[in-house]
Amino acid sequence: MTIATRSDAIVIGAGIVGAACARALAREGLRVLVLDAGFAAGGTTAAGMGHLVAMDDSAEQLALTAHSLSLWQSLRHSLPASVEYDACGTIWVAEDGEQLEAVAEKRRVYEEHAIASEVLDARRLYALEPNLRSGLAGGLLVPADSVIYPPRAALALLADAQTHGAVLREQCRVDDIVDHGVRIGGETLHANVIVNAAGAESGRLTPELPIVPRKGHLAITDRHPGFCRHQLVELGYLASAHVLSTESVAFNVQPRATGQVLIGSSRELVGWDAATNRGVLGQMLERAVEFMPMLARMSIVRTWTGFRAATPDKLPLIGRWLPIQGLYVATGHEGLGITTSLGTASLLADLVLGRTPVLDAAAYSPMRVLAAPAAAR
Ligand SMILES: Cc1cc2nc3c(=O)[nH]c(=O)nc-3n(C[C@H](O)[C@H](O)[C@H](O)COP(=O)(O)OP(=O)(O)OC[C@H]3O[C@@H](n4cnc5c(N)ncnc54)[C@H](O)[C@@H]3O)c2cc1C
Repeated sequence: MTIATRSDAIVIGAGIVGAACARALAREGLRVLVLDAGFAAGGTTAAGMGHLVAMDDSAEQLALTAHSLSLWQSLRHSLPASVEYDACGTIWVAEDGEQLEAVAEKRRVYEEHAIASEVLDARRLYALEPNLRSGLAGGLLVPADSVIYPPRAALALLADAQTHGAVLREQCRVDDIVDHGVRIGGETLHANVIVNAAGAESGRLTPELPIVPRKGHLAITDRHPGFCRHQLVELGYLASAHVLSTESVAFNVQPRATGQVLIGSSRELVGWDAATNRGVLGQMLERAVEFMPMLARMSIVRTWTGFRAATPDKLPLIGRWLPIQGLYVATGHEGLGITTSLGTASLLADLVLGRTPVLDAAAYSPMRVLAAPAAAR
């Protein structure tokens, strides 16, 4: 295979993160080549839920998600209808009085980051979402959170990159990254900037990166328009996402533009075993039915799995990887890569161009993994 064009930047991976990075670099006038081992948007991006969410597991995570949400909001009117951008908001559901107290604290944290939210008592919760089971305490509505259809969003970002001169090569697996270059078969392609955006597989190309594939299941129902109107997530979701060593499930449902209900979510560390785990899938569906009993009467038309790129400290790896000349990484986004793709790309472009980013780049720098004790990697 011969890829003759000379590029300023080579982006490895055409998932939503690679697509966003390619777009940001191409818009800065760099000649960008995007390489994907499979097809654009065919990796984890095609398996994700598409919830654009302000997530507050840490100050750094909230800063990146909040910045990314503002970028999505600026972009939303230029996205094609097929991206199915739906500003439905999130409701974090509180099961009891104790969780409702946690809601007040969550609201305070959001307020510090200028993210609007509204505490819901039980009456207001049921007015907004009548299909939730009775006996819940209330919740927190975050109106600016949204939902998109991730593969279409990635393709829209790539199309924008292509209109700014980027070139996409699919079915083109990078074997190795070298100083200012990538090896594919016997050929070496050179560029000043190389971006490893290979998602859960990024650690195969840069083995020092502590990326672990974290499997998740999703299930989708047949069509019931209006059954739920917001992304609904149990307050315990963050705790289930935070613990890296165990398998966990949490109630997390999403209204799709088709009228289907997308049901998540699960987390497992089982290497690259993509097979459906009937036990975990069953627990996930049971949890969903506990919150929305009517789901038990719906048909599940499809289930699938995908791999999140997990890091030990729950933050992505974005920035220069100094051991290899010209190499940047943009990976480790776990369950937030759809949301944070745009923030990642803006941070990466600032670093490539030597500008001071809006966010504190040190918090996301991949170089932190070399400073961490080996046991933590
Ligand atoms: C069940 C589930 C639910 C999720 N829900 C959400 C959600 O609601 N909101 C949210 O923000 N995020 C969510 N996520 C996370 C989100 O889907 C990911 O963080 C995001 O898709 C990662 O995008 P990416 O571009 O880094 O990786 P990918 O989409 O996997 O793209 C990486 C690409 O790199 C290519 N590649 C790999 N190796 C090579 C190589 N050697 N050479 C060339 N190409 C290569 C692959 O073919 C692939 O196309 C969810 C994930 C899962 C699994």
